[in-house]
Amino acid sequence: MSTPFALQLNADYGPMKVLRWERAVELVLAGKAVTVAAYEGRFVRSESLALPWPSVVALKRYARSRERVRFSSRNVQARDAWTCAYCGLRPLLHDGRPDRKGLTLDHVIPRAQAKGGTVYLPWSRRWVKVSCWENAVAACASCNTRKADRTPVQAHMDLRIYPRVPTHADALRITLDRIAHVPPEWTAWLPERWRAQPDLFGEADVRDVGD
Ligand SMILES: [Zn+2]
Repeated sequence: MSTPFALQLNADYGPMKVLRWERAVELVLAGKAVTVAAYEGRFVRSESLALPWPSVVALKRYARSRERVRFSSRNVQARDAWTCAYCGLRPLLHDGRPDRKGLTLDHVIPRAQAKGGTVYLPWSRRWVKVSCWENAVAACASCNTRKADRTPVQAHMDLRIYPRVPTHADALRITLDRIAHVPPEWTAWLPERWRAQPDLFGEADVRDVGD
């Protein structure tokens, strides 16, 4: 762990986002945040100070989250917890991590039925761009092939997850998914249900945190 990240909590100690450690140190030194947990035995040193290396920091004043997540196939799949929106399959590798190659991106209302690059979403009664958060879901290859250029209704397939613009919680979960190793110091501050996700917490991490 050469450049550890820090988890930023809001003033109510709700998890907010992941920061570069330099930014966390800046916030602490500026008096805008307090260190809630530090990486054990590690210090940020300069000529004049040795600061415990922040692992979790909390803002002193409540801030509105403005996190935006880039729309991409990988991020859509992370939003959907690597689960096919049609059959619920969650392809896994031998070590329990999600098999990302086992999933595809499906445009719920297919591109072939778009009018001027936009599609009508009957569930939200809105016109949106074909490729956007609200019209994209993770789908396994077999469901995607079966569905082809049809809507779920035309293909007689159930859509289990209605696609959505990522919430703040989704945004954080998607970011965590990109970190190979979620520090055990963060676990207490993350929603308990996320701990069951092997893509966020490897087996070894869970053992480290336990008891
Ligand atoms: Zn499927």
